[in-house]
Amino acid sequence: MCEAKVKLKNFIYHVVENDLASGKYTLVHTRFPPEPNGYLHIGHAKSICLNFGIAKDYQGQCNLRFDDTNPLKENIEYVNAIKHDVQWLGFQWSGDVQYTSSYFDKLYEYALELIDKGLAYVDQLSTKQIRDYRGTLTCPGTNSPYRDQSPKENQVLFSRMRQNEFEEGSACLRAKIDMASPFIVMRDPVLYRIKSALHHQTGKKWCIYPTYDFSHCICDAMEGITHSLCTLEFQDNRRLYDWILKNITIEAHPRQYEFSRLNLEYVILSKRKLNVLVKEKIVESWDDPRMPTISGLRRRGYTAESIREFCSRIGVTKQDNQIQISALEACIRKDLNDRVPRVMAVIDPILVIIESLPIGYEKEIVMQNHPKRPDMGKRLVLLTREIYIDQADFREEARCQYKRLVLGKEVRLRNAFIIKANRIEKDSLGKITKIFCSHDESTFFKYFLDKKKGIGVIHWVSATCSLAAEFRLYDQLFKVKNPEGVTDFLSMLNPNSLIIRRGFVESEVLGCTIGQSFQFEREGYFCVNNCYASSPHLIFNRIVRLRDNWETKSNI
Ligand code: ATP
Ligand code: MG
Repeated sequence: MCEAKVKLKNFIYHVVENDLASGKYTLVHTRFPPEPNGYLHIGHAKSICLNFGIAKDYQGQCNLRFDDTNPLKENIEYVNAIKHDVQWLGFQWSGDVQYTSSYFDKLYEYALELIDKGLAYVDQLSTKQIRDYRGTLTCPGTNSPYRDQSPKENQVLFSRMRQNEFEEGSACLRAKIDMASPFIVMRDPVLYRIKSALHHQTGKKWCIYPTYDFSHCICDAMEGITHSLCTLEFQDNRRLYDWILKNITIEAHPRQYEFSRLNLEYVILSKRKLNVLVKEKIVESWDDPRMPTISGLRRRGYTAESIREFCSRIGVTKQDNQIQISALEACIRKDLNDRVPRVMAVIDPILVIIESLPIGYEKEIVMQNHPKRPDMGKRLVLLTREIYIDQADFREEARCQYKRLVLGKEVRLRNAFIIKANRIEKDSLGKITKIFCSHDESTFFKYFLDKKKGIGVIHWVSATCSLAAEFRLYDQLFKVKNPEGVTDFLSMLNPNSLIIRRGFVESEVLGCTIGQSFQFEREGYFCVNNCYASSPHLIFNRIVRLRDNWETKSNI
């Protein structure tokens, strides 16, 4: 038991605390049971933080157990990705990785025990008939004609199922409970079904596979799990969980507790649907930076700390709700704000020529890498006669609320002097190609003047000493708040979920490594994309904008 007082973070902590205090358990043992049929997503992170977190807080144990009972949808790529993501999030499972498949022999014996006791039977109704016989919430089900076969007959049939003598879908093992139960899950649930597929762990050994409901409670009991935490949609299944453990010869009887799953605005968290996005090539891969997967968030530039912080802020309750995406963004913004260096980058460049400076002019300007952290040092930035500013920072005409560069008016260049736009040059389509300015040397670093003159500050990079870069500006994949609620979710895709821009960044970033993050001043937090090694120029992912209200700001 834990010596120090643990902060009771949610209702599950209260349950655990009581169980330890009453002496029911001396050690907390939880598990995280992913099905390796896709990559982990931010919803799984909530479950991981809860299961591993509670074990850590009480110095207990948490298993990683692959719920690998459907070989048709699973593969080893997913197994490996899941292990990596759990560790990257900062958690380590107790002992070896567990697999439901390593208990297949044991589970088979327990199925035989239920058959022996007259509590399970081999049904040969078709899948559709089983569904029709099940009844509805208002109408009780109907017994299958196979329900009263003797244990002997069921033993033979079950053994024949195992010997691959039945077609897939033509026979299954069902628990004999109550076809009139108000809980549909108790109307003779399926315990074993036939699946002719190669299994990533057991190969060709089996052609019958236990269902989640049958295997989960037994694996929990065999592993000595004390608290089996799952999401609310399994609430009714708790009856079945308890029924199975009560009716087989097994000592332990863990308890299942349910909490609400994470739903995020604008985001899909169903693995089946995420799989469609990958298969249909709507996204690049499972780790596309727009995906809500752990690997996608990592590639986007999210840190493990920020994801853990998010999970801690949203908490664990029994209330179903939808979390705003800004809650997740706030966590990464806070994390990066405290520790990444500031750099200037121009994403949508337009050339500015400061005619009042001599040709070949170069001035080294000392800039702080972080406004609040002198320990992060300083750097030298070269100011030259030709620079780039962002197209959004210039207008030919504007109202006085617009505090950037306007033709005939002044603006301060960040960490330098004030310039004034005197004339512009346009191409044949009327697009501005150059802005000709003059500068006022006496204003260098004299910020007090800005307030007096009522002018703003814009960022810039040297046109001659900067690095070309590609900027990938990501937005939500879906344009509706609840894409999970739309039948044809693919019709709700946001056409602007990725916008690519070519611009320039301070040469300071030269030598940066994949995944390294920066704050591009006034633009947002960006990180080096992992495909940049094979690209002739730098590629940055926008992790998150600087503020939530960016839209209002840029529309001034
Ligand atoms: P999906 O519907 O996306 O396939 P799943 O629940 O079938 O999800 P599993 O791999 O079985 O996926 O999930 C492993 C664990 O993660 C389960 O205990 C499940 O309850 C939990 N989990 C899955 N999605 C969420 C979510 N959105 N919020 C919280 N926990 C989740
Ligand atoms: Mg599942």
